[in-house]
Amino acid sequence: MTQIANKESKTLDIDLIADGKKKLNDQFSQVIANAKQKSLEGLRVVEERICEPYRGHSFELKKGQIIRYELIEGPQIIDTVYRVKSNPLGEYADSYGTSSFSGLVFGEDDSFWSNTPYLRPVATIVRDTVNLDKIKECYGPKAVHSFVYPSGRCNAGLYGRYYEDGYYNNCDLNLTQAFVDLFGEEMASQMETTQAFMHFQPMAYDKFPTNYSLFPSKGIFKKGDYVDVLVHDDMYVAFSPCPLGDQNNFNDEGPEEWVCYPIKVSILEGADGPLETVEIRNSNAPSAIEWLREGRKGMKHGKVGTNGF
Ligand SMILES: [Zn+2]
Repeated sequence: MTQIANKESKTLDIDLIADGKKKLNDQFSQVIANAKQKSLEGLRVVEERICEPYRGHSFELKKGQIIRYELIEGPQIIDTVYRVKSNPLGEYADSYGTSSFSGLVFGEDDSFWSNTPYLRPVATIVRDTVNLDKIKECYGPKAVHSFVYPSGRCNAGLYGRYYEDGYYNNCDLNLTQAFVDLFGEEMASQMETTQAFMHFQPMAYDKFPTNYSLFPSKGIFKKGDYVDVLVHDDMYVAFSPCPLGDQNNFNDEGPEEWVCYPIKVSILEGADGPLETVEIRNSNAPSAIEWLREGRKGMKHGKVGTNGF
């Protein structure tokens, strides 16, 4: 919340950031509402796969298709990554772009935005059947089950540090394997650690210093719960069933006691094919390295101050 004093010295509470986000997102709220309606009416199954734990899974989606992640055997945390098919090394769903125009936690209607210089919605959650009221009832008003953590995905280093054994299955390994499957080892090795957007993990950013709390999923999710994500461009999607699994082992008996379940993934579209997507104009922004090469051509900035205290 930004506090602004007007000319009459009355203090107004104005959330400029929220206003800016709303203005941007309102442009395409109808497209999202239409996709949600189609999802409610029923979608055509293009592909369906049961995805087992302890390995990564990858999919190719056409612009306007929906990927559905569905709980079938038990609660299972998933870490998902979205890369634009025409530029898989360069553009992907990004935590900074997303937190700038959406947030760090998500529900229906929230979009995943891509990185600089593109900054556009590349995917949107159009439907989520999880009972969010129940999560909030159990774990407080800030609690959700879909979120992103800065550059987050569990990795060998983390397990190595916690358990003095880095050879446990982890999401970084699974996602890397999914990209090797898609692009081969050489290209996959050039990929940055992109942020994983997670679902089916009860959590809240409720700590200070700001950080998250992770909660057990027992009694929270039901069989058949799903999240539908609409992609706004041709996209590679990869995900890892997180080895933390159902997040119900809180006695710290170690990773070998954690329980994981398979996930059903469906690629869906409307009866007439892919759905309408968000079209947003180019952000008119350069890539940093190209701009430096051009000698910062056309750069504008503010003023250097003196006696500022
Ligand atoms: Zn993980």
